[in-house]
Amino acid sequence: MKTDVLKRDCDVAIIGKGTAGLSVAARLSEKLKNDINVTVVGSNFGNSAFSPWNLRLQDTNSMFELLSRGIKDNDQISLVRKVSEEHQNAVNWLLSGSNIQVVETPFGIRPVGYATGRRMLKLLESKINNYFSIINGKVTDINIEPNNFKTFTSSKKSNSEIRSKYLVIASGGKGHTQENTTGNVSKNTNIINLVDRKGVETVDTDRAMIHPFLIKDEKTGISGLIAGKFLTTCDFYSIDKFGNTNEFLPSNIKDSIKNNDYHHLFSDLEKLFSSKVIKGHKIIMYTRMTEKDFDDFKLNDEYGQIFKNKNFDEINRGLNIVPGYHYTLGGIRIDKQCETNIPGLFALGESSNLYNERPGGVGHIDSLVLSDVIASAIN
Ligand SMILES: Cc1cc2nc3c(=O)[nH]c(=O)nc-3n(C[C@H](O)[C@H](O)[C@H](O)COP(=O)(O)OP(=O)(O)OC[C@H]3O[C@@H](n4cnc5c(N)ncnc54)[C@H](O)[C@@H]3O)c2cc1C
Repeated sequence: MKTDVLKRDCDVAIIGKGTAGLSVAARLSEKLKNDINVTVVGSNFGNSAFSPWNLRLQDTNSMFELLSRGIKDNDQISLVRKVSEEHQNAVNWLLSGSNIQVVETPFGIRPVGYATGRRMLKLLESKINNYFSIINGKVTDINIEPNNFKTFTSSKKSNSEIRSKYLVIASGGKGHTQENTTGNVSKNTNIINLVDRKGVETVDTDRAMIHPFLIKDEKTGISGLIAGKFLTTCDFYSIDKFGNTNEFLPSNIKDSIKNNDYHHLFSDLEKLFSSKVIKGHKIIMYTRMTEKDFDDFKLNDEYGQIFKNKNFDEINRGLNIVPGYHYTLGGIRIDKQCETNIPGLFALGESSNLYNERPGGVGHIDSLVLSDVIASAIN
């Protein structure tokens, strides 16, 4: 029985072990020369671990135009400007010390042979000071006083109370991809609801993006998205409960795919997937890519394994597609330093209110860039 409560004091506590949380820990490791105490707490799920990491790499102006679409808040504008200016540098920072190369493939721009979120998290972990504590556990409550936080964590081994001067919320948005693909999400306390009740300003956001073309490997749990040029090689069919097969995509959606018009594509697809007409239908995808195409692009990572585990005959018979969360936003309002309305309390990644609509390929990039903003503010 767990009776003892372990108390630990630290300078910075971070809730979340996804891209956002580990990026902040890695940046703090680099920035702070004198020993500061950092504790990262999280459980091992989260969107980062289940996603690939396609990267949107564009010139500053077109990136800014895309990311700032529909945003009126000056702080958000300032943050997306920063992401637009610094994203390439941040990716270089992440890959520094490794020989991983980012290349354009039919699956999007990605680090070839290395394109899963789990591997990216490992790379971030390798940049974190080994005297920082990274613990497994679920945060069940937080006491919030400016520059003085108490985080209550429950784990299999013990309960702990972490006191910190700074707290970074990197706990993801309101939903996780696992919820959609397995219906079996852990009974995690949702930090967004928790802090909302404690006076942290949040923006009511329904901003979630369902990505319809999610494939999942039953063996590893890794899911991947059909995106990039790959998508243009695919045909989709729906099969109803009587076994009738019909072409699935209407012509406007096919045009958006052909023209790379992702702005309309996702909203149109969401409407299609939520329509009553397709409820209960199975969606099957066929690709015109060949086995050689897959081999040529060295899909020797977990993403490629999704296909390899299925073997090419099975792929030829059609892959089962399930719509899944691509992201959900938590809506914690942050200023241009990623700080909330409570001094010393920061938020990053999907937990925040950044973006009005978030395009694909920036989920990891923004955390890689803005983690540096948080580390500088704490410094
Ligand atoms: C299938 C899929 C494909 C994607 N593809 C791409 C892509 O190609 N390129 C791209 O840039 N982005 C992609 N994304 C989006 C990207 O993965 C996410 O936006 C990003 O990883 C979110 O990171 P995060 O750290 O904010 O949140 P998460 O990765 O969700 O991490 C949240 C962390 O908080 C922890 N946590 C939550 N609640 C608690 C609690 N109560 N106590 C303790 N810990 C808690 C979780 O355990 C987890 O460690 C994809 C997402 C999905 C689902």
